[in-house]
Amino acid sequence: MKNLCLHPIYFHALYIFMRSRNKPEYQLKIAAERIELLFKEAAKAANPEMAKNYVRLAKKIGMRYNVRIPKKFKRMYCKYCFSFLAPDNSKMRLKGGRLNVKCFSCNKTMRYLYKRKV
Ligand SMILES: [Zn+2]
Repeated sequence: MKNLCLHPIYFHALYIFMRSRNKPEYQLKIAAERIELLFKEAAKAANPEMAKNYVRLAKKIGMRYNVRIPKKFKRMYCKYCFSFLAPDNSKMRLKGGRLNVKCFSCNKTMRYLYKRKV
């Protein structure tokens, strides 16, 4: 019982706590700004590999600072390979109350509900 504080689980929990909650407000604000900027750059980038890197970086920043990626950007990238989806490298179809988005660089399909079941 007296060794509880030295248990690895305790350190792990402490580590997660420090990482997620000890971020000051101004850092979160900067992180949100950077995510926005990176997505704008990704939309402008001529090279798809470059756009991929921007999206990956934005995602990383969001995870580190516990900042959500805004809803308007959420469907702009592939969640499997992080490529920025434009009309020339993706396909969108509506089928059975779902929006299917197919990414051409990894050939995977993301499905989003757009109709709520009554
Ligand atoms: Zn993909």
